[in-house]
Amino acid sequence: MQTVDFAGITVDNVSLDEATAKVATFFSASEPKMIVTPNPEIIVASQQDEELKQIINSADLRVPDGISMVVVSKLLGRPIKERVSGIDLMLSLMDVCGKTGSKVFLLGGAPGVAQEAASKLVSRYQGLNIVGTYHGYFKNDGEAIDQIKVTKPDVLFVGLGAGQQERWLNRHLKEMNIHVSMVIGGSLDVISGRKKRAPQWIQALYIEWLYRLITEPGRWKRQLALPKFLYLTLFRHAQSNRASK
Ligand code: UDP
Repeated sequence: MQTVDFAGITVDNVSLDEATAKVATFFSASEPKMIVTPNPEIIVASQQDEELKQIINSADLRVPDGISMVVVSKLLGRPIKERVSGIDLMLSLMDVCGKTGSKVFLLGGAPGVAQEAASKLVSRYQGLNIVGTYHGYFKNDGEAIDQIKVTKPDVLFVGLGAGQQERWLNRHLKEMNIHVSMVIGGSLDVISGRKKRAPQWIQALYIEWLYRLITEPGRWKRQLALPKFLYLTLFRHAQSNRASK
């Protein structure tokens, strides 16, 4: 699989279909596999967090979850195929799980959110078997792990917030021994219907960041990641190119 580097974070250059096909091969692997969804925010955060960088880079599939990553990759002459958002890959995998009868567990969100998301998913994907859900505000890791282990899922989706979810999964991946685990950020909020995703036309105009800024103004600090990301990837890149001439 071809990869592209964004300020030290390695991303797999895959389309949504290719990512889904890749995950299908994980089910027969002997080791548990982890899927991450690097976006500008986590790429910026990982500049000061070597552990997080290492966790993302060593994951088994790292899909580019940001339209700005597509734009930057084109400007740098190493174009990635498309944005693969975490929620799109998650839904695509729900379809696969429905068809193959794989058992799914949803972890994360405020109490009730994962359960609401599960009901929506089950009515949308024929054959989908969600064997358990648990909220993301548990007091200790063991509490959540016990809930998961008892249901023996094949696929685990973890939405505990950027950074925390990657670390949590990395810590417990081997012990839980689940074929496929994926981080999903706030996807359960969207699937449950508690939060709205930007409409397609806004996504197509590459201004999803603006939509989120307006609908969730409290996130403005997090949105500063975007200019920082552009600086790290474009400006720093130009500087190092000049230095090497
Ligand atoms: N979350 C959680 N436990 C925590 C912190 C956050 O379950 O301790 C959940 C939160 O309820 C939300 C999700 O993590 O559903 C991620 O939120 P975030 O805004 O980071 O998602 P993103 O915008 O990155 O997709």
